[in-house]
Amino acid sequence: MLGDMKPFRVIGNVYFVGTEKASSHLIDTGEGLILLDTGYAETAGVIAESVTELGFDLREVKYILHSHGHGDHTDGTPRLLELTGAETFLAQEDVKYISGWMPDHFYQDGQVISLGNTDILCLATPGHTEGTYSFFLDVTENGRTYRAGMFGGAGTNQLKKAYLNRRGCSWLNRGLFFKSVDRLKKEHVDVFLGNHTWNNHTKEKYERMLTSEENPFIDDAEWLIFLEKCEAKLEQVILQDSRDMFVNYAHRGASQYTPENTLLAFYTGMYMEANGIETDVQMTKDGVLVLFHDKTITRLTGAEGGVQDYTLEELRQFTFEKNGQRDKIVVFEDFLKQFGWRDITFAIEIKQAGIEPQIADMIRKYDIVHKTVVTSFKIECIRAIKEYAPELRIGLLKNGVTDETIEELKAMGAEEVCPHSAEVTAEKVAKWHREGFNVRAWGLDNEELMRNVYDSMADGMTVNFPDKLTEYIKVKTEQNPVG
Ligand SMILES: [Zn+2]
Repeated sequence: MLGDMKPFRVIGNVYFVGTEKASSHLIDTGEGLILLDTGYAETAGVIAESVTELGFDLREVKYILHSHGHGDHTDGTPRLLELTGAETFLAQEDVKYISGWMPDHFYQDGQVISLGNTDILCLATPGHTEGTYSFFLDVTENGRTYRAGMFGGAGTNQLKKAYLNRRGCSWLNRGLFFKSVDRLKKEHVDVFLGNHTWNNHTKEKYERMLTSEENPFIDDAEWLIFLEKCEAKLEQVILQDSRDMFVNYAHRGASQYTPENTLLAFYTGMYMEANGIETDVQMTKDGVLVLFHDKTITRLTGAEGGVQDYTLEELRQFTFEKNGQRDKIVVFEDFLKQFGWRDITFAIEIKQAGIEPQIADMIRKYDIVHKTVVTSFKIECIRAIKEYAPELRIGLLKNGVTDETIEELKAMGAEEVCPHSAEVTAEKVAKWHREGFNVRAWGLDNEELMRNVYDSMADGMTVNFPDKLTEYIKVKTEQNPVG
């Protein structure tokens, strides 16, 4: 015995052949064997030995079905392919997670894989990964037929923002997970098969089985209870992230105190412990990206026309003033040189259509893709930049977010919704979180709105007075410590 668990018959023609860390199941169809998941590379030998120990011939394994692409379910595959010569199945979306082999078949949602006396229904249940699949089959024991089911990716730690960011995965995967759980709840399951032993308490049930007449794996209540737990866990992950990773964006810098969108304003924001900067990008007449908010320069300079009517040199003649403090226009690239290295989040707002590729190139050049969300009030601008640079996270600024807005954003892969702060409520934030969105509010002109947005469990806000938000977050964190 190499493994930490003995192979055993779970029910009917279904056997457990995995390890405590990664489950693997064998189905004897009468006309060949099907293996569900292959565990880690180093435990492929355990699976092989377990199959043999149960009295089966490895060369009889015809199909290997993978629940998803993560290494603890697929790394054993190359070795098992050498031993079995089986055909493999995986979702196309999850090919990016595997290496060293390629699946013979991609799943189709709702497809039934049949062999001998067994039909396995394969349902797309993305979230844990983009291509997670769940399996359902009838099993017979003592003359009775039961429905067995496996949720192919139940873990929610992989949906923490830090994890998603590290892997370059979409925050919308969270919304997919909730949707998949809803879909799985509609399936009746008498025998819950875990693809990790802790999902369905495989080990405890196996021990009970040794002394019991009844098969402890038959339990038609367990499936729904487990799904509800998965749901609650993800809700907790999202709420925890909204506190631990809350972004206090200095809006155009600390623009209440200093001239907006200037280095002075950004440095003041950093001094006030903002952990994000929001700024606006436009292009000058001579093709330089600069940071400027308004359509015209009149409010800040008294002169006519917009940024695009002036060259950079001409714009540099103007001085912006606020509260007796003065500074000049900032070139986007200079901003990135000074702030791009910092461990902060950037909200870059596109203010002109047509300059999206240049903005994306700059974000790539200064390597801030992983800590940036590009936003705009113009949906065509964020669509354009996403088409040009699909790896960028995008968000829509909107006054009056509707269900249609949410559907449209989801369809284009936008991961952030930016409602006006006055429309933010805890109920709406919870609803948008359930769709998978990051929620960042804007338009705050007073501290009451600031407190409301923070308390609604939103994920961030742009604020002209980041010092006050920093203070509020400190007070709230002390009152209600994390963890
Ligand atoms: Zn996984």
